[in-house]
Parts: sequence; structure tokens; C-alpha cells
Amino acid sequence: MKVVLPDNSELELPDGATGLDAARAIGPKLAEQAVLVRSNGNIQDLRAPLEEGQEIQILTTRDTHDPDALYVLRHSTAHLLAEAVRRLYPGTKIAIGPPIENGFYYDFEFPEPIGEEALEKIEVEIQRELDEGRSWNREEIAAEEARRRFAEEGEEYKVELVETADGPITLYTQGEFTDLCRGPHLQDSKPIKAVKLTGLAGAYWRGDEHNKQLTRIYGTAFYDQADLDAYLEALEQARARDHRRLGVQLDLFHLSDHAPGMPFWHPKGMVIWNALEDLRRRENLERGYVEVKTPLLYDVATWVTSGHWEKFKDEMFIVPYGERELGLKPMNCPGHMLLFGSDLRSYRDLPLRYAESSTLHRNERAGTLHGLLRVQHVTQDDAHMFVTPEQIEDEIFGCLDFAAYLYDLFGMEARFELSTRPENKLGTDEEWDFTEGALRNALERRGIEHTVNEGDGAFYGPKIDLHMTDVLGRSWQMGTIQLDSQMPARFGLSYMGEDNAEHTPYVIHRALFGSLERFIGILIEHYAGAFPFWLAPVQVRVIPIGEAHRAAAHRLADELDAYRVEVDERNETVGKRIREAEVEKIPVVILYGDKESDEALAVRERGGEQSTRSLSELREYLATL
Ligand SMILES: [Zn+2]
Ligand SMILES: [Zn+2]
Repeated sequence: MKVVLPDNSELELPDGATGLDAARAIGPKLAEQAVLVRSNGNIQDLRAPLEEGQEIQILTTRDTHDPDALYVLRHSTAHLLAEAVRRLYPGTKIAIGPPIENGFYYDFEFPEPIGEEALEKIEVEIQRELDEGRSWNREEIAAEEARRRFAEEGEEYKVELVETADGPITLYTQGEFTDLCRGPHLQDSKPIKAVKLTGLAGAYWRGDEHNKQLTRIYGTAFYDQADLDAYLEALEQARARDHRRLGVQLDLFHLSDHAPGMPFWHPKGMVIWNALEDLRRRENLERGYVEVKTPLLYDVATWVTSGHWEKFKDEMFIVPYGERELGLKPMNCPGHMLLFGSDLRSYRDLPLRYAESSTLHRNERAGTLHGLLRVQHVTQDDAHMFVTPEQIEDEIFGCLDFAAYLYDLFGMEARFELSTRPENKLGTDEEWDFTEGALRNALERRGIEHTVNEGDGAFYGPKIDLHMTDVLGRSWQMGTIQLDSQMPARFGLSYMGEDNAEHTPYVIHRALFGSLERFIGILIEHYAGAFPFWLAPVQVRVIPIGEAHRAAAHRLADELDAYRVEVDERNETVGKRIREAEVEKIPVVILYGDKESDEALAVRERGGEQSTRSLSELREYLATL
């Protein structure tokens, strides 16, 4: 038989040869370092037979950052974890242990609950296995045989998995531990150079809360100790910036089971919210948008017309209304369509740019909610532009310009992705040539580099997705700019053209922040809570040294009333009050005591810089922030 290598050369092998055989045929070194076969995007165990004509790539221990190579390494480490747990805690039942993004987990039913402190002990045991060395043996057996083996061992979860599995049953054995597993796995444990167990959590068997709760142990593994160190460092940084933690520490918002996934905004959080709203409103006005407000609830027929009922129904909250049902809006589009259709429109009215930041609700599965990043109460900086075909390019250009302006303001690097016609597209290829061309031209005219996702557009039109990269190098999908020829037609919208004939307008759906909730969550992490002066909930805090200085401190605060100023006159030590201002990341702190006067104020900047300034110098300084 023949297989095809990445350089397109062919390799001859005996029939039934495996990936490992292929590696051996190329060279002993490759065979020793091989960890996995990748074939057309699928991964395959080295010990599984190859097929005639198959295109293969052999990944090795040198592919230390390749996601598939890491996947197989981590999956094998999960099995080492299970072996260690079974030895340390006899009577533990094993459930499943897959690799996940950045690591792996394994679910166990322990005879007695374990705590975080157990992780270190288990890690030591895994290290002992690594020192001894393990190799993986793969066997295919009949389902009945597998069932019998796991039943004998009392592994009821495995028995259930065998009973519901389809296809051949494969077992992987290392040391004295055998697991029911599809693989793929490493040849042996030598490539596993760094292992860390990262946490403990409860998890229901098969994710179903009616089932027994198991203990999930999370971990990660790398081909290189330095990679693990870098990962843990990044994790530590992310933890320090976690918006859920900072949200409490800075008194910005909280979440509660009284309203799942729907944030309660505290006064300080609202300062940030309103600053973004002001920014949105000011720029919209500047850029020729008009603000509108449309209802929150619509009858089901409207959602059927818009197409949401078909595609989005499960994510909508439905409210009974007499004999009828109303749907709480997950998007603003239908409201804007109805508003446009409420009057006769002429080409002279276009482009018509409706902006609205009203409340949207999306019914997300409970397990997927995550702080402000995934909420059920969504406030988009939404807009819909109704345009003629000739106006598409300029309008897209305007959106891109707006987006670039906003992202720059927050010091985030923006990335743009153009998605083109999908297979299930509506409309002709000529129409798509035209609309895709308009989007591409706008990107080029604005001098924006972009990547292209072929075939990733919506069925009704091409789109541009906006991503931002934060200070930790994490990428976030923010806004989207979507061209749509379908929804206006579904609502029967038209305008009178210059030719005195009726035409259907195109609509551009666009949100640039995305949702305000999510955007603020990202900003909190991006700035680690140290907001730039214009966004900071408290910009200046005045600390009177003693009781005698309180009146002067208040007078100073009044002088600075163009800013958000607070006086901290609590009966706490000066040191404690300064430290708390630091924890709250307040940009400017002014101490007022015997030595201070309007001619000589003691000013502490966030970050530790101290200076003495007169009131007029302070004003000049604040104006530069
Ligand atoms: Zn497995
Ligand atoms: Zn829309």
C-alpha cells in the first residue's frame, strides 16, 4: 500500500501498516519521537492501521505547541492521573477523563470526599509513574468482553459507557491500569515533561444534575517545563485580573441567583456604564445616526417574519399574553424593520441609521453563564442602517472607521475578519460578488488588514467580525458588521428610487462594542481594574489627615467638582486609607494636613508617584489626564 506524506511524496508500506510503521520506514529517530498521526485534520493513534492513499503527517515531541500534539499528551496524562488516584484511594470508581482546552480532567467517585490538599499527593504519585516509565498498549475487544471486565472490577460508569458505545471497543493499558478509551495515546510516557493538577470541582455524571455528583480533577501537561511555567504565570495574571473578583473588590457589580446571568450594577459600575453610553451617543450623533427606542416584547408572528422563531426560538424568553404569546427580544432588528416600514420612504431618506441600546434577553443554558462575559441580559450598542446598493461601501467604511476609533481609544489591537458566501446562501453569485466586493473595498479603503473566512458568512449576506487583543494577548470577538438583503424583504420593506420604482433596501446590522456587559467585563480585565482617568468611577480622593482638616478637604473637593471626587474622612489611619485607595485603583489621591494648603497639596498618583502641587497646578495636571 501507499500513503502520501506532507511534501506530497508517496511512501510504500506493507498492507495493514500503522502510523508507527510509516514512521519507522522514514527513520528510527522519527519513530522514537512520534506521538500522533494527523490526517486531513483528524487525529489517529500511531498503532491504528493506515488506509491506501491516506495523506498522513506524523507529529513528534518537537511539535511542542501543536494543539493536536498537546491533546494526545494531555489525554495520556489523564490516564496517569486515573492510575494514581486508583492506587492512592482504593475503591474509587472512574468515569471519564478527556483532554480539554489547556489541559485535561478526570471524573471520579471517591469513597470519601477529598480536598485541594490531596492534589499535591496525587501529583507526587504521577511523578513516580513518570519516573518508572509507562507505555500504552492498545487492544480492540468485543463489547461483551469489555462489559464483563469492567463489571468484575465494579466500574459501573465504564459498564454504562460500553453499553452505550457504538463501533469497536478499544482499551488502553499502562502499568496495571486499563481504561475504556477511543484514544489516541502516546507510545509511552517519556514525552510528558511537566504535569500540574490545577483544581478540583464537582461534576454530575454525564452532565445531568439528576445523576450522582462526581469529583472532577483538572490538570495540564506539557512537552517542556518552561511551557508549563509560562502557562501558570499567565494563569496567575489572568486570575489577578478576573473581572468577577475585581467587580466585587471595586464595588462595580454583582450577580445573584435572584436573576441568573443578569448583573446588578452598583453606583460605581454605572459610572463606567454611563461613560460608555455617553461615548456611544456622542459618536453616533457625530456620525449621522438617529436614536430610536422600540418595544421589548413582540408577538410570535413578528419573530416568524424575521426568521428568529425558526433559528433562535430556544434562546428566547416567551411570555404568555391572553390567548397569544409574546417573545422578549433577543435582538433589535425586527423593531427597526417595523419602524422603517411604518412610513413611505424615498431614496432621499437613505442612508437611514437607527441606533438603539436597549435591553435584550437571551435564554442561555445555566452552565454556560460566566460573569459579565456570558449573560442573559444583553445591552448592545446596536444600529441598523437602511441603504441603497450604491451606499453599501461607504456605510461599511463608516462602520470600520467608527470601530477603529473606539478600539484605539481603549488601547486594544483590533483584528478584522471578512466572512464570505456560505453553501446555503440565498441570492445569486453576481449579487454576492457585488456585496463581498463592497465590503472588501471598504476594508482596503480604510487601510485595514483583514483575514478572509471563506464560506463563513450568514446565508443572507457577507459580514465583517471585529476582534480585539487585550494586554494579556487574549483575543475577544467584539462587534460585527453584517450586510443583509433578506430581512428587509421578509418585512416587505421598500423605498421609492430615483427611477420612481420601488426597491428593497439593504440593511447593515452592526454592533461595535458588542454587548456593554461583556465589553465592561473585558475592560476590567484589560486594565486590571486600573481604569484610565476618564472611565475611573472615582477620579480623585481627598484624605484629610486629621479631624481639623475635614473642612478644608471638603472645600478642596468642591473646587474640583468638574471631576468625580470623594473625601475619605473615616476615623482610620492615614496609612490604611491610602492603602485602600490603592486597592480601589483610584488615579489621584490628595492628602490634606497641617503642612498642606491650596499652595502646596500632597498629590499621590496611581503607581506611587508623589509630588507637591498648588491647586492651579493640580487643575492643569488633571486636565491632561
Ligand atoms: Zn482516555
Ligand atoms: Zn440586527
